[in-house]
Amino acid sequence: MAHVIEAAPTGRSKCRGCGQAIAAKELRFGEKRPNPFGEGEATNWFHAECGAYKRPAPFLETLAITTEQISDRERLEAEAKIGVSHERLARLNGAERSPSGRAACRHCHNNIDKGAWRISLVFYEEGIFQPAGFLHVSCVAEYFGTNDLLPRIARFSPALGDEDLREIAKELAS
Ligand SMILES: [Zn+2]
Ligand SMILES: [Zn+2]
Repeated sequence: MAHVIEAAPTGRSKCRGCGQAIAAKELRFGEKRPNPFGEGEATNWFHAECGAYKRPAPFLETLAITTEQISDRERLEAEAKIGVSHERLARLNGAERSPSGRAACRHCHNNIDKGAWRISLVFYEEGIFQPAGFLHVSCVAEYFGTNDLLPRIARFSPALGDEDLREIAKELAS
């Protein structure tokens, strides 16, 4: 079962990492796994960047052997390596303002204030990403072991504007 990095032949595949469509000709990462419903194998598709963030180990394996031309190879490789050395990073699924004060932070177990920025998490299990709770922005450095998170947050929260990202960056830095 060889994973693959290739230009998407059509625009029909959907990225498991961010949930958005992968445009035709866009670079995609395909992670092969045993077919859960029978014989053969299934493929989970990701935008190349989403694969580097959410499946860093198989992404790096594939990057090492692919013959595909990848324009931002160095950046993707660097991000995936950060993900391999900080395993929890692959759980990062974006940022949002907390719609209520009811969710507790997975790290400190205190509630996250309504309206405060929170980081959402997913756990990867048997080919599927499951929602796995939230973190205070002030807790992410301890939880992930790094606060170099902004590219991932921007990637998985495409609705956030520059002003939002600046606010989150400021909280991450403090
Ligand atoms: Zn994606
Ligand atoms: Zn916390």
